Amino acid sequence: MRIGIDDTDSPRGMCTTYLGALLARRLASAGMVVRELRLVRLNPNVAWKTRGNAAIAITVDGSPATAFEMACRAVEEYADMDCENTNPGVVVATRPLDPAFYVKAVRDFCEIEEAEQFLVSSGAIFRGYKNKRGLIGAAAAVASEFPDCTYELLAYRDEGRWGTPRAVDRESIFSADSHTFPHTWDSVDRENRVVVCVPHSPDPVLFGIRGERPGWLSLAREHIISEKPSLEQVFVTNQGTDAHLLEEPAGRMKEGCSYLLRGTVAGPAVTAKGGHVSFPLECEDGTCVQCMAYEPTKNFREIVRSLLPGDRLVVAGSYKGGSINLEKLRVVVVAAPVTSRPPVCERCGKRMTSAGTGKGFKCRRCGGRSREAETRQVSRSLAPGWYEVPPIARRHLARPLCRGDPGSNFIPGRST
Ligand code: ATP
Repeated sequence: MRIGIDDTDSPRGMCTTYLGALLARRLASAGMVVRELRLVRLNPNVAWKTRGNAAIAITVDGSPATAFEMACRAVEEYADMDCENTNPGVVVATRPLDPAFYVKAVRDFCEIEEAEQFLVSSGAIFRGYKNKRGLIGAAAAVASEFPDCTYELLAYRDEGRWGTPRAVDRESIFSADSHTFPHTWDSVDRENRVVVCVPHSPDPVLFGIRGERPGWLSLAREHIISEKPSLEQVFVTNQGTDAHLLEEPAGRMKEGCSYLLRGTVAGPAVTAKGGHVSFPLECEDGTCVQCMAYEPTKNFREIVRSLLPGDRLVVAGSYKGGSINLEKLRVVVVAAPVTSRPPVCERCGKRMTSAGTGKGFKCRRCGGRSREAETRQVSRSLAPGWYEVPPIARRHLARPLCRGDPGSNFIPGRST
């Protein structure tokens, strides 16, 4: 059976993954066989998420009724029910649920009633607390199928330390990264010299290591020096897989969904107040969409600034407020723009001026004439290929390029 849980935390604390790790240990103590823990990221643009819109699913062998009661008890014990925005959901299903519900939850928006109807028609056992919104994530986690997956090792803090500064040796994280990158990623941001895998919120997470296989997580883990974690858990996840991206004509984009678009740069990149960089992209269906690289994307903005009209691109990102918030882009063809100016007079060496529209050029000093302008190819340092935001600005679901070049036949959410 699969147990799904979501929406147990608040900005004041807790974390649904921690609750899942605790519950897995309780189920095992009760004699059940825990086969897998899943950390399932859902649409990153839902307004009511606390942090990263995560839900969990546990695959376990045992009595569904007992597992359901134990899951509900854990939620009632640990969820921050006083927070208005905490609306937990618990689901137990003994048969596979239609993965289409998961796909919708990771790429689009679902309604609470829709989740309830889905669960009733699937024959699942479920309980929603308060406004029951957590049933959406819990149902999606249970229904999830991962055509591509990665892993995350999460280390959790002793309850007594929650809310206090985390004692994690910074250099040991850099060491873990240098010994295991690119098989692990986003522990640190080397270019910006920032540790990324240690949160700053008052939740129970001490650190999280993301990687391709559990073996690489263990290798990285061995390097990390920190306060003693109360427990550690490896989750199978859809993080780093681009599962959120849709391929749709730009004209059909919907606010809050994320897309992979192909098009041509239609104007120069402009840097606005605050350091946000944007440019217009004319997509294959003729729709023009503004692409944004916000200030937190740091050095990625240099790539965006170097784009010129005519460059052919593939871009990935969320459609919010009428523009695409870039997560990565592929330069398919670097345009070779040519600049032209009046030629130098062959007789007297002075630069000519325009003789009027369609009349060529004239030397103001000696009266010499020429029909040909002087042209020069603009030199470009930009090379074709993929470029991405740095780890500090990466979305959980975004596939990092260190997992391999997605290639030209890139299909979102699929392993390549
Ligand atoms: P937590 O660690 O508790 O999971 P979080 O940042 O993941 O924190 P939640 O507190 O779970 O965020 O809030 C997200 C809420 O949005 C949940 O109630 C979840 O069921 C709901 N939700 C998730 N995906 C969608 C979606 N695609 N459409 C509508 N609601 C969604």
